[in-house]
Amino acid sequence: MPAKGDTWDRERAALRTTAQRSNTPCWICRQPIDWNAAPRTPRSFSADHVTPTSLGGDPLRRANLKPAHYGCNSSRGNTTRGQFPNSRKW
Ligand SMILES: [Zn+2]
Repeated sequence: MPAKGDTWDRERAALRTTAQRSNTPCWICRQPIDWNAAPRTPRSFSADHVTPTSLGGDPLRRANLKPAHYGCNSSRGNTTRGQFPNSRKW
């Protein structure tokens, strides 16, 4: 659904603009976000869903989005912590 993707990109871009302007820290670890970090690196910006979409959170509502590090967002995942332990062995 391209329209949905467009909206998501717009919401994420808007969140980034707002967060960068006020220098909002990562809402998970409370550390500053590196606005110059390359995308998809641990210290870079990502838009995190406060309520995971798998738990009924609205992916497109601004109120359900908060700035987070890409690394924090990834490690938090999309499920309740501990519910699905990572079975991969590194
Ligand atoms: Zn963080």
